[in-house]
This record gives sequence, C-alpha cells and structure tokens, in this order.
Amino acid sequence: MIDIYVAKVLGFCFGVRRAIDIVEAEAGKRDGISTLGQVVHNPRVVAGLNSKGAIVVSSLDNATHKTVAVTAHGTSPEVLEDIKKRGFNLIDATCPIVSKAQREAKELSEAGFQVIIYGEANHPEVRGVVGWTKNQAVVTLDPEADVPIPWRRVVLLSQTTKSQRSFSEFVGRFVAKNMDRINELRLVNTTCPETDERYEAAREMAPLIEMMIVIGGKNSANTRKLAEVTEHMHIATYHIEKADEIDPHWLNGKSKVGVTAGASTPDADIDDVITQLKVLAGEAKVHRLEGTSAVSSKFS
Ligand code: SF4
Repeated sequence: MIDIYVAKVLGFCFGVRRAIDIVEAEAGKRDGISTLGQVVHNPRVVAGLNSKGAIVVSSLDNATHKTVAVTAHGTSPEVLEDIKKRGFNLIDATCPIVSKAQREAKELSEAGFQVIIYGEANHPEVRGVVGWTKNQAVVTLDPEADVPIPWRRVVLLSQTTKSQRSFSEFVGRFVAKNMDRINELRLVNTTCPETDERYEAAREMAPLIEMMIVIGGKNSANTRKLAEVTEHMHIATYHIEKADEIDPHWLNGKSKVGVTAGASTPDADIDDVITQLKVLAGEAKVHRLEGTSAVSSKFS
C-alpha cells in the first residue's frame, strides 16, 4: 500500500493551454499549418497536434503549408517579418507573459539600457526576446560574468521559467559585482507566476513524501527546473515523460510518493502515471492536495 500525493498545482499553464487551443483551431480551419518549433515541449501534445494537421518545422525553409504558427515561446521580430515577406499567413500563439517580456526588452533597449537576461541563451523564448533588442541583449546564468554596460544603464530581466528565488539571487550578486559601473538600474520581474506556483507546490509537498515523480518533456526547461526543487531537498526524484518509464524498483521501501508535472504536461500523462503507480503498488491511496492557480484564472 502506498500513498500518492498529487501536487496542488501541476500540469498545463494557461499560456500552454491557450497556444494549443489556437493552433488546434487554426489547423482545423485550414489545410494544415506548420508550427515553427514545438508548440510546447511535450511529445504527447506534439503528436496530438500533428494528427490534427499542425506539423512541426525547424525553420521557414521547411514550412510546407500556407500558414505558419509561432509557438507559446514567441519569436524575434526578424522571424515575424520573414514570415510575412515570404507570404505565409501568421498565427501568433506567443504567451502573453512572454510578449510582455519582449515589449519590456525592446522599450528599455531603445531607451539606452543594456539588457541583461538571466536565462539559457539557446532557449527559444530567450532567443526571441534577444531579437526584440536588435540582438544587443546579453544572456547569462552567471552573475559574475563580465558583461558590457556601455551607458552605465542596465535592465535585468529573467527567462520566464526561472524561479523568482533564483532570479533574486542572481540580481543580488550581479548588483554587488557591478555597482561601481552602474548609474541607473532597472529590474523587470519577468519570471512567470505559473511556473513559480508549480515550484512552490513541489516544495510544500516535500515533508509528506519519500520520492517524487516529475512528469514532462525532457526538453522542457520548466519541468527540468521542477525536478531540481525536490532533488535539492535530497528527495529521490525521477523526471519521466511517460508512465512506462517508471522502474518498479523505485518503489522499494517507499510508501509516500509525490507526483507533479511541468507546465507543458497534459492531464492524460499525469493520469497515466497515477494509474501505473497504483498497478505497481497493488494498493494505493491518492491524495490530491488542495489549491488552484490564481494566475490561471487571472489570465485565462
Ligand atoms: S510557463 Fe508561463 S510564460 Fe510559459 S507559457 Fe506558461 S504561462 Fe506563459
């Protein structure tokens, strides 16, 4: 007999649901569409959209439909311009929270601030935001990195999926290192409350559980980060994409198992994992921790 604790906030965020709805609806109306990258980083979602006519392409050169969709991660103004120039219809499923980060980066860059983004340089969202600064923004995860501050004016932004906690640590150390080179400092908190809620819910579960299963795409930045929450609390943590990846040995000697999922993970993947845990344990009691996402209701 095991107890399964399901996080109070897990799975799809509003930006992902919105992007899937937009792409699904447009693919249904048209003769299929090409999506510039994966709409969300989850294999089941990508396969589901593919079956409805939304085909992932890595670049515009490979687009085979008249309509091209930009994903929840957004893109740069150059790519948007290119889509129009080449005569494609544009469907923009950029998450509104990402759009806000793009706007802030553009406006402050144009106002003479050096934009510094706390994030991963290769992430599609970050590449897009950099594009809105005419590629002038610097991306780093290292607060000690040597960065140019040509006009002694700096704005600090974050990749949306970074936690507020890690962004605030970055800001503190960045300022301590560079204070003597800065006349004016702006901080725009572009972390996404949706992802932070999932990190916080995982943290809250820690005292209840002996191991954690984190469900989501291996290429999903927010899911990888979610797995780090309980890993850093020294709780055995397994990041899986599908229920059949669960190794029965993981349950040896464990009777309290946590389940959470990244912002790009559909309910069906979560249900499959709970079902598989019940099968493997023989007997299980499921505890769904209470709470809803205030952010989801605010933005949806
Ligand atoms: S995690 Fe946040 S920023 Fe990213 S798509 Fe979801 S709501 Fe938008």
